[in-house]
Amino acid sequence: MGRTLPVILFDLECESGHVFEGWFPSGAEFDQQANKGQILCPVCDTANVKKAPMAPRSARGQPAERNPKHEQAAMLRALRKLRQAVEKNSTYVGDRFPAEARAMHAGECEEKSIYGEATSEEARELREEGVQVCPLPWIDRADH
Ligand SMILES: [Zn+2]
Repeated sequence: MGRTLPVILFDLECESGHVFEGWFPSGAEFDQQANKGQILCPVCDTANVKKAPMAPRSARGQPAERNPKHEQAAMLRALRKLRQAVEKNSTYVGDRFPAEARAMHAGECEEKSIYGEATSEEARELREEGVQVCPLPWIDRADH
């Protein structure tokens, strides 16, 4: 269990059934803010908000995102998704990335999706050589 993000993500639901997300330092903090009516639905502004039953992430649509906390949550979620997709569909080559990318670009080995580490200097050199590289905004997975 990582302790780098001292917040808890709750799925919240207002009385009209709008589901959105909130970040709180703790469950107690949520209860406190909810009791004071400080948590407002971003769609209809009601303070009548409760924790929603946890739904599978993929089954939900995009909630209305108007405040920075929601945007941050959405961004983290997107980055996590990106990471999962890359890890699932690509081969990890670690610091051999620049060499592997060059070999593929030169047609010396079969093209495949790879990811790994390169310094910004190496990435710049690769791009200058016409190798397509894309820096990934990596974040820690939720599970560590
Ligand atoms: Zn609402």
